[in-house]
Amino acid sequence: MLKIDDINVYYGAIHALKGISLEVSEGEIVTLIGANGAGKSTTLRTISGLLKPRTGHLTFEGQNIAGLPAQEIVKKGICHVPEGRRIFANMSVLENLELGAYTRSDSKGIAEDMEAVFKRFPRLRERKTQVAGTLSGGEQQMLAIGRALMSRPRLLLMDEPSMGLAPLLVKEIFAIIKEINASGTTILLVEQNANMALSVAQKAYVLETGRITLSGTAKELAESEAVRKAYLGG
Ligand code: ATP
Repeated sequence: MLKIDDINVYYGAIHALKGISLEVSEGEIVTLIGANGAGKSTTLRTISGLLKPRTGHLTFEGQNIAGLPAQEIVKKGICHVPEGRRIFANMSVLENLELGAYTRSDSKGIAEDMEAVFKRFPRLRERKTQVAGTLSGGEQQMLAIGRALMSRPRLLLMDEPSMGLAPLLVKEIFAIIKEINASGTTILLVEQNANMALSVAQKAYVLETGRITLSGTAKELAESEAVRKAYLGG
């Protein structure tokens, strides 16, 4: 579904991604783990069109998407839930969700998806008129995910959805990630919480200072000595 082949991405003179290749097949949860600054967010930003690779290929369902405007990439079915949620703090929950559907014009489909989001996140229905900035951290993460679902993505890019959440909420968010995947959305998940990420993913890549250093099934990586030492606390 998504194929990244030998991309190089720079921030000015900083060479952030040094020849990254990875693949996501339809229906999978694939996780990208790695330390701070490894280039995980940069990888997601490149896929969603916020950054342009200097060299290399980036295809979605066989079509080149490298360098397309972010809005075109959303229209193709890729949606990004950024790190730190980035909801519109001064707008209501409902307005945030409506904005998630800004590239669509099928009002019936939008209404169905809104209902589906409220079913999945009853807390958002209860709070639909509340100003989003006053939601708790977990609720804001749910809103960020719900807003992404409003674009009806086929591939969801998630950047550290568990960041800053209490352990119980982390569990809840990962259960939701599994449910979203089970209902047909392919997911590329960036996580610092390697333990949880490897427990929900089928496939995994380890990123270190701009390079993929390991890849395999999530089970293989969870059992790998190197991964256990570096990312799973021994
Ligand atoms: P984290 O989990 O800390 O967000 P990450 O693996 O997502 O880490 P990136 O945010 O992708 O890492 O950063 C990769 C490298 O690119 C880092 O060295 C970072 O300092 C650099 N970088 C990121 N954003 C910019 C920017 N806007 N300008 C310059 N350098 C940047």
